[in-house]
Amino acid sequence: MNRITYTRAQNVKDALHQLSTNSNAKFIAGGTNLLDLMKVNVLKPDHLVDVNHIGFKAITAEADGGLRLGALVTNADTAYHESVVDQYPLLSEAMLSAASAQLRNMATNGGNLLQRTRCYYFYDTSTACNKREPGSGCSAINGYNRMHAILGASEHCIAVHPSDMAVALTALDATICVSGPDTEREIPITSFYRLPGDEPHIDNHLGADEIITSIKLPPSGFSKHYTYLKLRDRPSYAFALVSVAAALELDAQNNIIKARIALGGVAQKPWRMPEVETMLEGKPAVSESFLAAAELLLAGAVGYGHNDFKIALARRAVIRALEQAVNKQKEP
Ligand code: SF4
Repeated sequence: MNRITYTRAQNVKDALHQLSTNSNAKFIAGGTNLLDLMKVNVLKPDHLVDVNHIGFKAITAEADGGLRLGALVTNADTAYHESVVDQYPLLSEAMLSAASAQLRNMATNGGNLLQRTRCYYFYDTSTACNKREPGSGCSAINGYNRMHAILGASEHCIAVHPSDMAVALTALDATICVSGPDTEREIPITSFYRLPGDEPHIDNHLGADEIITSIKLPPSGFSKHYTYLKLRDRPSYAFALVSVAAALELDAQNNIIKARIALGGVAQKPWRMPEVETMLEGKPAVSESFLAAAELLLAGAVGYGHNDFKIALARRAVIRALEQAVNKQKEP
C-alpha cells in the first residue's frame, strides 16, 4: 500500500508553495483522472494538495466581449452556463459529448485539459511505455493501436489526447492562463500541447511549478455555424475515434468569411492547420470546398495497422462536420 498525505490549499500561492515543498506531490481537484492513474500505480504521489478551495470557480465576462472560465468550475457547470451556451455553443456541445454526467459533475476545467492519454498500455504497468517510463519503448506501435494517432506521432509514442473540451477550445482560439511561483502567463491553446517527439512523457508546456487558473475565450464564438462531431464506438461514455470541431462565418451568399477546424482523437494534441482555414476563406460553403480542406488536413496522415481506418474516417468526418456547421440551427 502506498502512504499518501493530504493537505488543503487556501489560495494559489499556498497551493504552489505546498507543491514545491514535496517533490512527489500532485494537485487534486475533481480527481477523475488522477485517481484512476493512482489506482493502477501509473502515478504514485506521496502527497496530495487539494486545490478545490483556492477560488477560480466563476465564469465571468471579459471587457473585450469574451468570457473567462475558472479552472475550478466543473465541466457540467461550464457546459450548461448561459453565456457558454449562447456565445460558445460549440464548446458546450463538445463538453456534453464527453464522459458521463457523474464525471462531468466532478471534473474541473483545468483538470480536463491536463488529463492523460487513454492509451491502454499507458495504464498497464506490465508493458513498455515511453510516456509512463521514458526509454522503455512503445507497446502500441507494433501492438493493438486502434485508438491511436494518425497525425504528429513519433517513433517513441503514437498516443492521442483524450479531451473533447480541448478540441473545441482549440477551434475557438482560447488562451490558457497559468500562475507560477513568481509570474503569471498566458499561453494560446494552440501552443499549449506538445507533440510526442523524443519526449513523449511531456504532454504540454505547463511548468512543473505552475497551475492553470482560467481559460479565456475571445469574443467571436462562431455561434451561428458550428458543430462538434464525435465518432466513437458507442454513443455515450466513450472517447473519440475521431472528432471534429468545425466553425464557420458565412456571408449572405454562403461564401466562407472565416473557418475553424480542429480534430480530436488523431494526435497527441488537438490538430489544427491554419493554412487549411485560409484556403477556405472566400470559397463557397459546399462539399467540394470541404473535400479539399479534408484532403489537406489529412495529407500527412499515417496509420499503424489497426487504426488505418481512421484516415478515411477523419476525411469523411471533416466534410460532414463542415456540412453540419453550414446547416446548424442553434436550439432556442
Ligand atoms: Fe506509451 Fe505512447 Fe506507446 Fe501508448 S503510444 S504505449 S502512451 S509510448
